[in-house]
Amino acid sequence: MALLKCPECKKKFSDKAAACPSCGAPLSMALEAKKQADKNTKKNYVLIGAIAVAFLIFSGGKKDETSDSSAAAAPEIPAKPDPQLTEIKMRVFAQGFVESALKDPESATYRNQRGVCGEVNAKNGFGGFTGYRRYVAVSKDLVAIEGESLKGSEFRKVWNQACK
Ligand SMILES: [Zn+2]
Repeated sequence: MALLKCPECKKKFSDKAAACPSCGAPLSMALEAKKQADKNTKKNYVLIGAIAVAFLIFSGGKKDETSDSSAAAAPEIPAKPDPQLTEIKMRVFAQGFVESALKDPESATYRNQRGVCGEVNAKNGFGGFTGYRRYVAVSKDLVAIEGESLKGSEFRKVWNQACK
């Protein structure tokens, strides 16, 4: 025995009954509704599968060398962005953001750069070098330099989230 959901009153009833005991909707109606629902569920699974596959292809996430027939039929895989180039771009952008926050951007030197994170040494307002300080530079308005725009503890929080 299976329970069917009545398409009329939404109450459940046995498929052994000829009709819904609550509202009298015939069994055939409930069976038809169930068939339709199953079909939709299957369609959703196929759709989710297709999205997952497309995501995998376009993100270049997993490079599967063992190409089967379905992969061969897939559209041309776009060139994966060069991670090294992306890294360099991020560093250059970050430097620009850091320099917009420095008193003397010309004097800036960098070390230990990784993406939007790194260390910068530059002249302060009095012409002396500050020594290397850690920074996180996400955008022009989101530049954090340790001990300058953020307090030590706050900076460490940002650093741990963005750079670890
Ligand atoms: Zn009913």
